[in-house]
This record gives sequence, structure tokens and C-alpha cells, in this order.
Amino acid sequence: MSVRKHSWAEPYKIKMVELLTMTSREERMEAIREAGYNTFLTKSKDVYIDLLTDSGTSAMSDRQWAGMMLGDEAYAGSENFYNLEEAVRKYYGYRYLVPTHQGRGAENLMSQLLIKQGDCIPGNMYFTTTRLHQELAGGAFVDVIIDEAHDPDSPHPFKGNVDLDKLDRLVQEVGSDRVPYISLEGNVNMAGGQPFSLANLRKLRAYCDEHDIAIMLDATRTMENAYFIREREAGYENHSVREIFRDICDMTDGCTMSAKKDGLVNIGGFFACNDEELFKRAQNLVVVYEGLHTYGGMAGRDMEALARGIEEAITEDHQAARIGQVRYLGEHLQNAGIPIVQPIGSHAVFLDARRFLPHLDQDEYPAQTLAAELYIEAGVRTMERGNVSAGRDPETGQNRRPALELVRLTIPRRVYTQAHMDVVTDAVVDVWNRRESIKGLKMVYEPEYLRFFQARFEPLD
Ligand SMILES: *Cc1c(COP(=O)(O)O)cnc(C)c1O
Repeated sequence: MSVRKHSWAEPYKIKMVELLTMTSREERMEAIREAGYNTFLTKSKDVYIDLLTDSGTSAMSDRQWAGMMLGDEAYAGSENFYNLEEAVRKYYGYRYLVPTHQGRGAENLMSQLLIKQGDCIPGNMYFTTTRLHQELAGGAFVDVIIDEAHDPDSPHPFKGNVDLDKLDRLVQEVGSDRVPYISLEGNVNMAGGQPFSLANLRKLRAYCDEHDIAIMLDATRTMENAYFIREREAGYENHSVREIFRDICDMTDGCTMSAKKDGLVNIGGFFACNDEELFKRAQNLVVVYEGLHTYGGMAGRDMEALARGIEEAITEDHQAARIGQVRYLGEHLQNAGIPIVQPIGSHAVFLDARRFLPHLDQDEYPAQTLAAELYIEAGVRTMERGNVSAGRDPETGQNRRPALELVRLTIPRRVYTQAHMDVVTDAVVDVWNRRESIKGLKMVYEPEYLRFFQARFEPLD
């Protein structure tokens, strides 16, 4: 790999910048108080380094921006649709494409088309919107990921693997005609951005062929998964990300895609498949929810930016810098003795708030507290993934107190520099050094649904 040898240095240079607000500690203390100690309620203008999510936050290239100017905003048959279709055929290899406004639009179509009332949909860990659409279509999600995925300390290199025994137990129990497809996600988000291996997928394919079950890929971060296979799976070190990614797609029957991640665009998504009958039904259904089948809720310019984004994202150079930057941050935190989830994933570093603030009870919301402290320390905005996100048990009304009490530091693609990562490391270490004096939070406002978005807190005295 060319001139960079061992460095993950970026394969691009910066041509336009966005100025950020530099705030004082006093201003940040006021801002987080006003936001009820919830980072989702803080204003973007008050944030210095925004690690809330990697969704739709990528920086586009000059080529993508140039493509925006070539938007063919025709209602039907936009030129940009055909360019996107060509890119999907070339790199993903699926024959048929239906664009959607973002990933969940594609999930809605696929779930409605493939799931019947009472069906079971196994998957390698749930994702929030994916599971919700499966349930809305009358199905039930069943987790068949390997046990290691639920253990933050397990160093397993492929924590995204499917446990075929768990899958077989389900199929034996309900019958394969109750299992329309398995939902297979690349670089499993909720497990910390953990990949599956090609060996695991090959076994899954053989099993599914035998039992006549389709494999539908959640392709959202699957190019990043391909990069991990190249790094970690014996026999693939000399294969390109492009070849490995194509192998993955070739072993699956179709995909849903949130282009806001791998696709290097701010909005967009699609459904793709090889079956003509399924495609025709998807093409028909998309007009109900998204728009005509040649735009599906996307502007022509956005389809063009995505077609170009796919070409850029599939390269080793991009992935080496992308994953290298996340790893750089993770390793620095690890070397400073900060407890993080292992192994370091592709899109985020997860702090283990349970071990960071062991003196706080889980009902004093250690991860929520830590996210607020990181904001106060250096204007770094992160996300709670713990007791607040997990919500209440509907039976008992008590907090679910999940095994994982985490703060997610999610890195947008091509946006921040190595020095920004150093600021983040310093901020985490500074909070670590004063951790014993940190007090927890109490919830003072709790909305009924998905409370983590809008809940408000106050410090315990
Ligand atoms: C973001 C995401 C989705 C949903 O996509 P949207 O574009 O946000 O609708 C689906 N699956 C995974 C794994 C995701 O990360």
C-alpha cells in the first residue's frame, strides 16, 4: 500500500473548512444545564468536536460536490438514478436497485414484502429501526449472534458472527417456512462495530440453502466489515476491499442500505436484490411511501453524490484512514488506562462507564453522567448507550439496568483531524483523573417513548 507504509494518514487534503465555536468551561456548564444534562438536547453551535453519530455526518469530496451540480431533477428517469444503479451493480453486484430516502425506508419495504404475521427473523443482534420494521410487519426478531458479542471484554476478532446452533434451534422450533430470511448486518452497530467473517458467512449460506431461507444483508457498514476481513481473516490479506465486499454481496440475496454511513453522503439509502419478482413488488411499494421508483425520496443530486461516494468508500485508502483514525483514538485511550469495549470497532470507541465511575449506582446513570462531563470538559459531544437508552421493563416498570453501560464516541468520516482525536483523548483522561469526585444524575423529566432522546436530568447533590 503505497507511500504511507504504516501510517493511517488521510488520502485527501482539506480545501474548505467549517469554523467551530470555541466555548469556555462556564459557557459549557450553562449549555449542558439548559439541555438537562442530555447531549441530544445540546445545540450543534455549542459543540467543538461532535462525536454523537457517524450517520449523515461525513464530509463529501470535491468530486461529490461537483456531482451535486449535475443533479438531474427530473421526476422520472433521472440520469443520476442510472449512475447510481450502475455503481450498485458494479460494486455490490445486485441486479436490481430501488432508492429510498434513508435506510429505514428500505427496511420498511423489505419487511412488508418478505414478512408474514407470526414469522421469526433471526439476526446478528438487533438494530433499533430494523427490528421495529420487522415488528410492524408482524414478525419477531430473534438474536442469533455469538455469545462473545454481548461481552465487552471478549477480544474475539469476529464478534459479528452468526451462531449457527442458535439459528438451527430456532429453525427446528418454528419450522423454516416461518423464517423468511436472516437479517445479517456488517460491522454490527449495537455490538460496537464488530465484523462477521467470510468463513462464517459461507457456512451460513450453506445452511440457508439447505433450509430455503434467504440472507438479506444490512449493508450499512459492510465495506468497513470487508476491511476487517482483509486485516484479520487468514487467506484474505492480499484480496482488495472491493473483492471481499463483492464476495459478501454475492453470498446474500439482497440488501438494505443506509447510505448515510458507508456511502459518504448526508442523506440517502436503497433496497437492492437479485430476484426479479421481489424487485417488481418493491418497485411498486416504493411509490406508496417514498416516491417514484427512479428517485425513492432522493434528489437527483443526492443520488449522484452517493454514486460517487460508493466509488470512494470501496478503496483501501479510504478504509485504512477511516478505521485507522478510530483505532488511533481507541489505542490512545487504552494506553492511558481508560476502560473501553474490545476490540476497537470501525465507527466508534465505546467507554465502559460502569468501570469508569464504579462508585455510581446504575440508577444514578453513569454513562449519561460521563457524556455530560465530557461535554463540560472540552465541548466533546458523545452519546449514552446504557440504562437511559435501555428504558424500563414494561412488566415491572423498573429501569432495565443493561449489562452494557457505555458512552459512544462515534467518529464521522473524513471530518476531524489527528489533533482533534488528541483533544478527545485529553478530555477523557482529564475526566478520568477527577472521576472520584463526579456525582451522578437524577432524571427529572421522562418521555414515554425512546426516552434517551428527550429525557432531562439534574445533578445529585
Ligand atoms: C443507521 C442504521 C440503519 C437505519 O438507517 P437510517 O438511514 O438512519 O434510516 C439501519 N441499520 C444500521 C446498522 C444502521 O446503523
